[in-house]
Amino acid sequence: MNEVLITGGSGMVGASFKSTLPNAIYISSKDFDLREKEQVYTMFAAYNPKRVIHLASRVGGVLANMNNLGSFYYDNIMMNTNVLEACRVFKVEKALSCLSTCIYPDKSTYPLTEDQIHNGSPHSSNYTYAYTKRMLEIQSRSYRHQYGCNFICMSPNNLFGKYDNFDLEDSHVIPAIIRKIYESKLKNKDAMFWGDGEPLREFTYVEDIPHISMFLMENYDSPEPINIGNTGEIAIREIVNKVSDYFKFKNKIIWDRTKPSGRLRKPSDNSKLLNLGWDPKNYSDFDESLVETCKWFEKAYPKVRGIE
Ligand code: NDP
Repeated sequence: MNEVLITGGSGMVGASFKSTLPNAIYISSKDFDLREKEQVYTMFAAYNPKRVIHLASRVGGVLANMNNLGSFYYDNIMMNTNVLEACRVFKVEKALSCLSTCIYPDKSTYPLTEDQIHNGSPHSSNYTYAYTKRMLEIQSRSYRHQYGCNFICMSPNNLFGKYDNFDLEDSHVIPAIIRKIYESKLKNKDAMFWGDGEPLREFTYVEDIPHISMFLMENYDSPEPINIGNTGEIAIREIVNKVSDYFKFKNKIIWDRTKPSGRLRKPSDNSKLLNLGWDPKNYSDFDESLVETCKWFEKAYPKVRGIE
C-alpha cells in the first residue's frame, strides 16, 4: 500500500509537494485521464493509496473560464466525482481536496468565512469552475455523512510561485506582472497595467501549500471547508514596484485608468486554521517568495508555461 497519492502532480501546486513528500505518487493527465472512471479505478487498483491529495483541476484565468464554460464544467465535475468515488470504493483513509476562495459568492461579506461558500452565485466569469468546486465540497460532506469517509476540503487564496502559468491573456496577477516587466525590459519599452493599481489582494506562496496540507492531514477531520491562505494584503501597485526593482526596470510604468481596477479588497478569514494551531509565522515571507519566483522565471525564460 502506498502512503500518499497526489492528483494534479504535474501542476504548479503538485510540483511544490515534491521536496516535502518525495515518496508520494504524483499523477498527471498523461498518466491517467481522471475524467474517465475506468482509468481512475485502474489507478487506484495499481497504487492502493492510504491517503489522497486531490489537486487536479481545469484551472484558468478569466478568459479561459469564460471561453470554456462547458468543458470546464464537464472536466472538473467528472474528475472530482470519479476521484472521490474511487477514494470511497478503495477505502482511502483520508482525502484532502482543493477548493479556492474565488468560488465564494460574488456578493459576500468580507472577510470571506467558510460558512458563506454556498450563499449565492459566484462571479459570472468563473461560475462553472466555482460550482464544480462547490460540488466537490458537497460530495466530500455527503460521503462523510453516508459512508463515514474522512474527506476534507481546503480553500487557498491566490497562489504564486515556480511553474505558474505566465500566459499574459490567461494568467493570474503575479505571473502577469513578472512577465510584463521582464519582457518590457527586454524590448526596452514602457510597461502598461490596467486600472490604478490600488486594489489590495492576498497571496500565498505555493511552497507553503504542502506544509499546510500535511498539517491538515494530521489535525483536521471536519466536514466544513477550511480557508488556508496567508491573509496579509498587498496593493497590486506595490507588487509591480517590487518586481520592477528586482529586474532593475528603468522604463515607465503606466497605469491605464480607463480600464477597470477591480474590487478594492477581497480579504479572507483564516482564523479557523490559526485556531487549529497553524502558526502564521510558518507562512513564507512575501518579498522573499516574490524574489524566488522572479529568479526562477528569469532562469527558466522562455521555457515557462504560457510562453512556450
Ligand atoms: P495547474 O493548472 O498548474 O495544474 C492542474 C493539474 O491538473 C495538472 O497536474 C494537470 O495535469 C491536472 N489535470 C488537468 N486535467 C486533468 C485530467 N483530465 N486528468 C488528470 N489530471 C488532470 O493548477 P494548479 O496547480 O495551479 O492548481 C492545483 C489546485 O489548486 C486546483 O484544484 C486549483 O483549483 C487549486 N487552486 C489554485 C490556485 C492558484 O492560484 N493556482 C488558487 C486556489 C486554488 P497535466 O499537467 O498533465 O495537464
